[in-house]
Amino acid sequence: MRHAAYFDTVTVDLARGTAAEVVAAAARAKINVRAVGDRAVTVAFDETVTAADVADVLAAFGAAGTDRPAGDALGAFARTSAFLTHPVFHAHRSETAMLRYLRTLESRDLSLAHSMIPLGSCTMKLNATAEMFPVTWPEFGALHPFAPASQTAGYQAMFAQLERWLAEVTGFAGVSLQPNAGSQGEYAGLLVIRKYHEARGERGRDVCLIPQSAHGTNPASAVMAGMTVVVTKTDANGNIDMADLRAKVEQHSARLAALMVTYPSTHGVFEATIREVCAIVHEHGGQVYMDGANMNAMVGIARPGDIGADVCHLNLHKTFCIPHGGGGPGMGPIGVAKHLVPHLPGHPVVRVGGDSGAVSAAPWGSASILPISWMYIRMMGGAQLAEATKVAILNANYMAERLEAHYPVLYRGQNRRVAHECIIDLRHIKAATGIEVEDVAKRLMDYGFHAPTVSFPVAGTLMIEPTESESKAELDRFCDAMIAIREEIREVEIGVASREDNVLVRAPHTMQQCVSDAWTRPYAREKAAFPAPWTRVRKFWPTVTRIESAFGDRNLVCACIPTEAYAG
Ligand SMILES: *Cc1c(COP(=O)(O)O)cnc(C)c1O
Repeated sequence: MRHAAYFDTVTVDLARGTAAEVVAAAARAKINVRAVGDRAVTVAFDETVTAADVADVLAAFGAAGTDRPAGDALGAFARTSAFLTHPVFHAHRSETAMLRYLRTLESRDLSLAHSMIPLGSCTMKLNATAEMFPVTWPEFGALHPFAPASQTAGYQAMFAQLERWLAEVTGFAGVSLQPNAGSQGEYAGLLVIRKYHEARGERGRDVCLIPQSAHGTNPASAVMAGMTVVVTKTDANGNIDMADLRAKVEQHSARLAALMVTYPSTHGVFEATIREVCAIVHEHGGQVYMDGANMNAMVGIARPGDIGADVCHLNLHKTFCIPHGGGGPGMGPIGVAKHLVPHLPGHPVVRVGGDSGAVSAAPWGSASILPISWMYIRMMGGAQLAEATKVAILNANYMAERLEAHYPVLYRGQNRRVAHECIIDLRHIKAATGIEVEDVAKRLMDYGFHAPTVSFPVAGTLMIEPTESESKAELDRFCDAMIAIREEIREVEIGVASREDNVLVRAPHTMQQCVSDAWTRPYAREKAAFPAPWTRVRKFWPTVTRIESAFGDRNLVCACIPTEAYAG
């Protein structure tokens, strides 16, 4: 054994025989162990391994069993301190109790099961049950990422098909399924671009241009990939400022590595200059990285590869239906043009990709959730994927039109249309009444809705993305809520409601507050709790009221048992 201390993985240097012989002997017992060179073998154990399995592993090594209890091996490393002492680990001791506990936690969450989640840039679309089924199958869920290729033919077929489909959707020659998130895709894509420049003897190209309106992950990824970020301006209409772009490209021409551009832009607009933008960057030897987070506005009707991009990532947890409430797990594969295929991320254990280093521990990232996107694409088919895109754009434009009379839409493209999302502007409202976007976001909870994206990419605005999954009735319900909130703002505007104590700044309202005998607010309880007809039939009660954001972030309240309890 190579190490005195270990956790779950043991590497054994062989005294006799070869690693291949041990691997073959283990395989005969249906056990996968990993050869490390010719003379060492690595074995990982988990809680499902039985004594009989251990005996089989030992037999594969040609070693005899031992009577020594497994506990002995833990020796000095066995834990003696108490653990899992929090009452919550002991309070729910039957399946019934556990079920109720989990259901209680779930009920505090406003999810797609309650109402639309119009979070712009997040594409909170339906995660269909049928798409989710295969995740539960052991054929997908119980396979190790390094399982020998001979045992993973089904997975390989799925990877190949999904890669082909995603290449078709993006108009690219090659796809890497390795990145685990959009941001990781950005990092991977920029590494690919760096390798490409290096291979052409242009190691000095390290400047990455990023428009002002970009998602925060863009500059972060560029810095992590070792590039120098240069920000380019956006004009009054929210579009890339072409004069500034030209100037920056000229200025950094010799060092230009890449431009990162989101299309349609994070302003929710198809920028008409996008082909020209790509051409300018190419003229100066740079590569175009397209942030594909807004692909829900393009699938089936336009392709990054045709527009002039060289690389783009896809957020499978946005456009391709992997559920992503609560932050994951997601997948951010990248597509690349032909000249970049040799530089796709590789992997030290499994032969995959090209000459860039691995960006994930596993060769195909979070492979077990890829069936969700596979199912989505397979069940939809090409024509329906295009139809979904059209409906997503139609829905966003419908909402933009209905809300325009109440909140101005900040940016529009040609023909006054938006893409698959729109930004509504509340800055003038704040100036006139002191009511902020945050107040509207909180008040939406009383109406039973999740807030849109707040203050991204423009501070003081809300970015709304309905997706194709919502019916006209649901879009109208959300618009009705926003319009009713505008009327509540008007009460402050005209002095009917106080600026300091009104239904908006005190939102959201909990059930406890609303039924309390100590209600002293200047507005009615009914107005607080049941502001729209549907809330009387289907009320979502926020469980906590507002915690002032920055103060809350700086003053953590722990649900732990008090520290005194540990003192004894
Ligand atoms: C979501 C998003 C990202 C980052 O993707 P993750 O999967 O969250 O890492 C990047 N750019 C844009 C425009 C996005 O909306």
